[in-house]
Amino acid sequence: MKILVMNSGSSSLKFQLFTMANMAVLASGLIESIGDSQGIVTLHYFDGDGKEQDLELKKEVPDHRAAIELMVELFQEKEILNDVTQLAGVGHRVVHGGEEFHEPTLITNDVLEAIRELNPLAPLHNPANITGIEVVMEKVPDVPQVAVFDTAFHQSIPEHAYLYALPYTLYEELKVRRYGFHGTSHAYVSKAAAGYLHRSYDDLKIITLHLGNGASAAAIDHGKCVDTSMGLTPLEGLVMGTRSGDLDPAILFYLARETGMGMDELDTLLNKESGLKGICGNNDMRSIDKLAKAGDKQALLALHIFCYRIKKYVGSYLAVLGGADCLIFTGGIGENAISVRSHCLAGLENLGFTLDPLKNDNRSDAIMEIQSDTSLGKILVVPTNEELEIAHQTLGLIG
Ligand code: AMP
Repeated sequence: MKILVMNSGSSSLKFQLFTMANMAVLASGLIESIGDSQGIVTLHYFDGDGKEQDLELKKEVPDHRAAIELMVELFQEKEILNDVTQLAGVGHRVVHGGEEFHEPTLITNDVLEAIRELNPLAPLHNPANITGIEVVMEKVPDVPQVAVFDTAFHQSIPEHAYLYALPYTLYEELKVRRYGFHGTSHAYVSKAAAGYLHRSYDDLKIITLHLGNGASAAAIDHGKCVDTSMGLTPLEGLVMGTRSGDLDPAILFYLARETGMGMDELDTLLNKESGLKGICGNNDMRSIDKLAKAGDKQALLALHIFCYRIKKYVGSYLAVLGGADCLIFTGGIGENAISVRSHCLAGLENLGFTLDPLKNDNRSDAIMEIQSDTSLGKILVVPTNEELEIAHQTLGLIG
């Protein structure tokens, strides 16, 4: 029996097929640029004879429905999974679970309706997640589906940390509050770190830094998330590839008055034209790192602003937790950008975290310890695996 995990973004579909017995990956694929004139499809899989294969193709994929059809066609054509009715279950990443969903949830029509009602809180993501669920319901109505929410891990954040200092009625009537995202990743890497350190998860104080195109930090106190940097939406907090993160909200009023920019333009500005891209014209940390090393001033500035914001969050979460046992880097940047790790930890020695430059100068598929021998706290690089976590949570519910 097999478990399929689907992670639909606004214009992408990531999927992985696992064996139920030992969670081995049979196929993992990504369909990007959904809705553009040319979609990009990559697939890594084991064929009928158990041989590893890679496939790359360019093809128009008009919408998420077509992307799922294509995934199923590829499964059959490449003899990865001939009959989708034989799936034991399908796990979906669902971005926004609001206040309703604290844990992975078996999907029923009522659950689907409740997720749909949360669409205004995540207009780019939740509708894509819902399409994925609906298409699977149509194709294989008897296969159980599980929703794993990005926000669920953060539902333990206390009131004083999730409420904004706005009129309280905005929370009561419109649910304006901090929700936080990347929860599956923060949960996965923090639990993996506890296992690696042979410590009980409930005994540790941990700060997790998920640094990818989207970036967020979380403070985890004895197994419970107590604060995170993303807010009502994934725009707040750290500097990201194209998102500004924290700023003075009055900048929006100022820009609207001075330039006449409307709501949609401001939304695009903050979500798509800001962050690393806004500062140096590039949102790929690999290129920024290279340019900075070659002396490009804007790239260096972007790197400094990115790392300074991370350092501020680490400092504030050390205060929130009263010190931490462990600091974790994950995500494409956290796992690979050696210079980012060293920049944002410089100066934290007196707060208990000292990097070993030689240990830091590495990349690995396994967990790495990169603190010096004198560091009080552990500094770990933990490769994230949201799909595996979703597969485990799905299995946990479908038994
Ligand atoms: P993610 O969203 O987690 O896939 O992370 C994407 C980010 O990771 C992009 O900014 C990439 O440039 C960055 N990244 C991936 N590999 C490297 C690397 N070897 N060095 C620096 N940044 C990297």
